[in-house]
Amino acid sequence: MTLIRDILKAKRPTFSFEIFPPKPDAPLETVYETVSALRIHKPDFISVTYGAAGSSRSRTVDIASMVRNRWGQVALAHLTCIGSTRAQVTEVLEELDQENVSNILALRGDPREGEAPSDFRYALDLIRQIRAGQFGDFCIGAAAYPEGHIECDSLEEDILRLKLKTDAGADFLVTQLFYDNEIFYRFMDLAARSGISVPVVAGVMPVLNARQIGRIVSLCGASIPPKFARIMSRYEHAPDALREAGIAYATEQIIDLVSWGVAGIHLYTMNRPDIAERIMKNIGTIRESVTRER
Ligand code: FAD
Repeated sequence: MTLIRDILKAKRPTFSFEIFPPKPDAPLETVYETVSALRIHKPDFISVTYGAAGSSRSRTVDIASMVRNRWGQVALAHLTCIGSTRAQVTEVLEELDQENVSNILALRGDPREGEAPSDFRYALDLIRQIRAGQFGDFCIGAAAYPEGHIECDSLEEDILRLKLKTDAGADFLVTQLFYDNEIFYRFMDLAARSGISVPVVAGVMPVLNARQIGRIVSLCGASIPPKFARIMSRYEHAPDALREAGIAYATEQIIDLVSWGVAGIHLYTMNRPDIAERIMKNIGTIRESVTRER
């Protein structure tokens, strides 16, 4: 049983990937190919989203189990609580425990229209339920927002709530994507001053097409720094060039984060192992030279 908190204690920086379940009408095998291609890069863990962007929730446990038991990778199962009852969450925890998936990214999720009333209000409530529960010694991750969560009035307020999540038992944090590393460094400073001491893994999402940028800004409110905006507008109508620029930008971001001393890089792969491969190749020598057992 490998817990991510132990990996983060033993090694720095970690490199990990996020994947999402295929749509309900697509065969599960498509994700097998994705995992099979990603594992070549020896990720420290692979996370599987839960119902994100309207995708199926039921496949997360199956895929996380496959990542863990078929491919012998460390799996991080995302789990959201909004719209769920305590009994439903207990059921998922029991399944994860049975499948030996011992790492959970505990999230609130976003309310869906017409969803049943929930026993949960915040991710904090889920973290407390997992910590109080009877199933296994789960390692718990939680979400962090370098620019503040979109619903929150201020970054400072959001960080105080983040501290409640770590006080309740979150072992590590994974951030929302960002395109300006300085924002991440400022956030890290504020988090440390608020007494948050768990490792923070930086989420990096390469931009691959123009449509994606609009979605990113409207869904999570990420700032677009001038350099990034220039690149995006220059290649907006040249899909291949935009993809190349997106890969180069993500590579540069990672090199800078690693130089700064980040605890880990979590690459949002969007189930595109070809893109992950390009980025991992770009940083291959750097990864080898900086990764230290602690
Ligand atoms: P919370 O920590 O509960 O915060 C939500 C809001 O409530 C914030 O504004 C916060 O400031 C406020 N708040 C928190 N605690 C309190 C309190 N005690 N009192 C008052 N206000 C409070 N979504 C999915 O559906 N599936 C996924 O797989 C998924 N994976 C993600 C992975 C990462 C790394 C990240 C960053 C996000 C992911 N999301 C996913 C999106 C996430 O569910 C949304 O961003 C959601 O809106 C907030 O989730 P949270 O866990 O951060 O919520």
